[in-house]
Amino acid sequence: MKLQVMKFGGTSVGDAECIARAAKIIASAARARSVVAVVSAMSGVTNRLIAAAHQAATGDKAATNELAAALSTQHAGAIDALIKDESRHAKLSAEVQQIIREVAALCRGTALLRELTPRTLAAISSAGERLSARLLAAALCELGLHGVAVEASELIITEDDSAQAEPLMKETRERAPARLLPLVKDGVLPVVTGFIGATAEGILTTLGRGGSDYSATILGAVLDADEIIIWTDVDGVLTADPRLVMDARLLREISYNEAAELAHFGAKVLHPKTLRPVADAGIPVWIRNSFAPEEPGTKITRTGHPTESGVKAITAISNVSLITVGGRGIVGVIGVAAKTFTAAASVRANVLLISQSSSENDICFIVDSGDAERTLKALKKAFASDLVHHNVEHIRVNPGICIIAAVGEKMRGTPGIAGRLFSALGKRGVNIIAIAQGSSEYNVSFVVEASVMQSAVAAIHEEFDLGRRSIK
Ligand code: ASP
Ligand code: MG
Repeated sequence: MKLQVMKFGGTSVGDAECIARAAKIIASAARARSVVAVVSAMSGVTNRLIAAAHQAATGDKAATNELAAALSTQHAGAIDALIKDESRHAKLSAEVQQIIREVAALCRGTALLRELTPRTLAAISSAGERLSARLLAAALCELGLHGVAVEASELIITEDDSAQAEPLMKETRERAPARLLPLVKDGVLPVVTGFIGATAEGILTTLGRGGSDYSATILGAVLDADEIIIWTDVDGVLTADPRLVMDARLLREISYNEAAELAHFGAKVLHPKTLRPVADAGIPVWIRNSFAPEEPGTKITRTGHPTESGVKAITAISNVSLITVGGRGIVGVIGVAAKTFTAAASVRANVLLISQSSSENDICFIVDSGDAERTLKALKKAFASDLVHHNVEHIRVNPGICIIAAVGEKMRGTPGIAGRLFSALGKRGVNIIAIAQGSSEYNVSFVVEASVMQSAVAAIHEEFDLGRRSIK
């Protein structure tokens, strides 16, 4: 029998009505195939848990009580609306209260010690999935199906990293199918907690914020699933942000590479690591809207659906800053780039784009605006003596910019795309500050003033006819 792994994001299980809708989606899929569900915390819950944990670390005990009350209200309210069967209601309520008590105990311990260790934070922040998985499993039982909540700490084995754990695929392949497949064979619908893993020794870890997508593809890969569906609150991947381009269209099929570029570059539909586990096996991943399940969604496959123009989608990232290290004295000097990026790394600034022209008069790169101040300080320190001797003449930050990227697998090896792209911008009078194209050629990125972001995106969208043509 075919197997589908379905993941429901936070908004797709945001309240009782959404959970009921998710249960119906699973029920209808389960008529024709086996289904393993993966679930995020109800929307807002993870943020709330993390905020309360940090509050507790300051010694604040009241925050813990507020957290427990809020979790209780939210989940108990959903249980009341969803679960009519009395004994199921009582059992589920008891389990939910028990998890909330555990979280509150962890927060109180944190407040007493005024210390939040990474392990404690992982235990606290993962409670949302442990709650939502039980709710969704019970909602399936209400429909007469056999839903069972399963803790991913029994399934996904990871390295020992509480906050951003990498899965150990070999170990996970030994563990997860042995636990899940017998359930599936018995007609059970497992509902697995997203976001969570555990070390081989059983210490709980988390896969990083938004990591439930990753949980779904890790499980899909080790279960040799036929497909994976990521149910979310948008119709799929669009040719551009519809807030910037009115005639943005849904892309029916894109490749893993295109999806990875888009996930990185602003269209944050997927956790960036999501496609890694399934790319080798070529398992298709769908992005679909749980609020509009009749919509077809976007299918992500190995080859995608190549379009003639090569460009498939355009993304824009704002809230980023351009940092320039420049001066005649850096020309031909070995180690300037190394020093620049070592400084950025030393303050954990993530570098989004790099550009240096062959004249070597300056190196520029882009970081999140939130990281810019720190990075500037670190650079000034690293280049202190070069600044004194005017080898480096300036280190500047420009926060008023954005990155725009044109993405498409078929851009690779197709001449003329960059030419069309930049002349379309030229015709609209858009000035380009910096350009970068990785040698993968799936992505041409450039930097413009933030004030012209919309007209730049619209110009390229129009040039490559992305809106009008029906995109396959
Ligand atoms: N609940 C986690 C988060 O908010 C994981 C997820 O939603 O994918 O980051
Ligand atoms: Mg989420």
